[in-house]
Amino acid sequence: MTDCIFCRIVDGDLPSRTVYEDDSILAFLDANPLAPGHTLVVPKAHHERLDDLPGDLAADLFAVLYDLVSAVEDAVDADATTVGFNDGAAAGQEVPHVHGHVVPRFEGDGGGPIHAVAGSSPDLSDGELDDIAAAIGERA
Ligand code: 5GP
Ligand code: ZN
Repeated sequence: MTDCIFCRIVDGDLPSRTVYEDDSILAFLDANPLAPGHTLVVPKAHHERLDDLPGDLAADLFAVLYDLVSAVEDAVDADATTVGFNDGAAAGQEVPHVHGHVVPRFEGDGGGPIHAVAGSSPDLSDGELDDIAAAIGERA
C-alpha cells in the first residue's frame, strides 16, 4: 500500500534505521523512541490488525520479537523490556500496519507496567468472570 508509512519503509521509499530483515519481517528503530533502542517489528506484507495475519506470518513475527528482545537489551544495556502491540485504533494504534514495539526499560526510568494502559479496572463478579472465560474459550 503506497499510502502506508511502514509499507513505504519496507519498499525502501522512506528511510529507516533497519536492525533486522528477512524474507517476511523487517525491524527498525522507532522515529520517536520511548527509550534508546525502541524498535518496531513489522511483517513486510501489509496487514492492519494482528487478527489479519496468516498464522505462519504471526509465528515469524513472534520469532523475530523473541530474538530482538535480548539483542536490543544487550545493545543499549537495558534492565528489562516492555513488548507490546497497539492492536486497533481504540488501543492507540496510529499506523494501521501491524507492528510490535520493543521498548527497553531501565531501573528507575519512571515508566509504568503494561497494567497502566487501561483507563480503569472493571469490578467484575464471579459470574461475569465465568461468562467471559467461557466466551473466550469457545472462540480460542
Ligand atoms: P502505534 O501508535 O501505531 O502503535 O505506533 C506507531 C509508531 O510508529 C510510533 O511509535 C511512531 O513513533 C512510529 N513511527 C511513525 N512514523 C514513523 C516513521 O516514518 N519511521 C519510523 N521509524 N517510525 C515511525
Ligand atoms: Zn502497510
